[in-house]
Amino acid sequence: MKIVIVGTGYVGLVTGACLAEVGTEVVCVDVNTAKIERLQNDVLPIYEPGLLEIVKRNRQDGRLFFTTDLASALPGAEVVFIAVGTPPGEDGSADLQYVLQVASQIGQLMEHYLVIVTKSTVPVGTAAQVNRAVKNSLDARQRILDYDVASNPEFLKEGAAVNDFMKPDRIVVGVNTAKARQTLEQLYHPFLLNGHPILFMDIASAEMTKYAANAMLATRISYMNDIANLCGLVGADINQVRKGIGSDPRIGKHFLYPGIGYGGSCFPKDVKALMQTGREYGYQLRILDAVEAVNEDQKKLLFGKVLRHFDGDIRNKKFAVWGLSFKPNTDDMREAPSLVLIDSLLEAGAIVSVYDPVAMEEAHGYLGNSVTYAEDMYNAAENAVAVLLATEWNTFRMPDWQRLRSLMQSPLLFDGRNIYDNVQLTQLGFTYYGIGKTTDT
Ligand code: NAD
Repeated sequence: MKIVIVGTGYVGLVTGACLAEVGTEVVCVDVNTAKIERLQNDVLPIYEPGLLEIVKRNRQDGRLFFTTDLASALPGAEVVFIAVGTPPGEDGSADLQYVLQVASQIGQLMEHYLVIVTKSTVPVGTAAQVNRAVKNSLDARQRILDYDVASNPEFLKEGAAVNDFMKPDRIVVGVNTAKARQTLEQLYHPFLLNGHPILFMDIASAEMTKYAANAMLATRISYMNDIANLCGLVGADINQVRKGIGSDPRIGKHFLYPGIGYGGSCFPKDVKALMQTGREYGYQLRILDAVEAVNEDQKKLLFGKVLRHFDGDIRNKKFAVWGLSFKPNTDDMREAPSLVLIDSLLEAGAIVSVYDPVAMEEAHGYLGNSVTYAEDMYNAAENAVAVLLATEWNTFRMPDWQRLRSLMQSPLLFDGRNIYDNVQLTQLGFTYYGIGKTTDT
């Protein structure tokens, strides 16, 4: 089976590489020439654990190709995935211009039956727009060709994307013809062998499933942040509360970690887009209003603790920020809460030194020369009045506390991800602030 994937970002590249890994012939297409050239030389444009080996192996075995030319990719393909970005528009709605551009292009170039699948996260009704865009292009060519449109939202997590794709909790596919269903069932068959389910449904439900899932996850985060903040006030410890509630199977233990707010390229924009869909239908998603409001406040929480500790004056004081990417194991800086924290520190006149195991280059695009880029976590902390942990990379979990203490101007730690033991740190002479812990002030 041959397939084409348009858009070679986090989703398109992982999808292409993993489908090639199970024997499919895959052509990945992108408009970004530099990206394609790098990929043709086995250089990944993103950091994703385990991905490089798969790309290299499948390129070598002649199953995975990269090109900027959609026309040369389409002959012989049975399925085309659209995996381009859907960034937020001004009103919060998903900007579909890239998706629809690709759909029009497919209509301009196709010469035989295709299943055209949106893998990008797109609002309900997009498949109908894709269908129109393809049809308009075919009409302009005065061609009548059979094709199907389907929806196959992606649920991979950056940082664990290869594993998520190879061993999916579920594959959601929205179709409205038996032919499209059969083609996609065949394509995904290798992934289903160990009991991973494929859920076929109507297209609107598939499109909605992705938003409902991300909005639910964002809701869990904001809910836990809200409860954590109350814990801090009443003298309870959110870590203990988390374990206490997570052992109830109706709640489950995953995704109950408080922190400095959710970020990344998905939750913020998908929550906004779903709220906008609600507005378009005259329905206000009140829970999501609160989810967003809590998240905006949570991104400012650590800075508020810093200011209170220093009685409002942090001018010319040096702060070390550990972790920049929006979560560990990725270089993705889109909507990273660390950026809000760093902006606030800089605005208040502080000096900021940063360190992240992989996102330094990416971060430079956002922070420019406003901060110092340290060689490692200790270098960042030299002469700092405090360390602020923004992203819980494994490398930050067990610092050499004595060394750290001796390097810093004052032993002060703001733990934005609750990964440290406040009792141990206090014994070691550190002043410690976490999220929703009894020691918080
Ligand atoms: P990305 O920005 O990393 O990649 C998008 C790619 O599409 C870019 O390389 C861009 O050059 C390319 N592109 C844009 N227009 C094009 C065109 N006309 N032809 C060919 N290529 C084009 O985006 P991403 O993070 O991979 O996300 C893609 C979609 O998947 C979004 O809708 C996103 O919401 C969704 N999604 C993302 C994740 C994630 O973790 N990143 C997870 C699930 C779903």
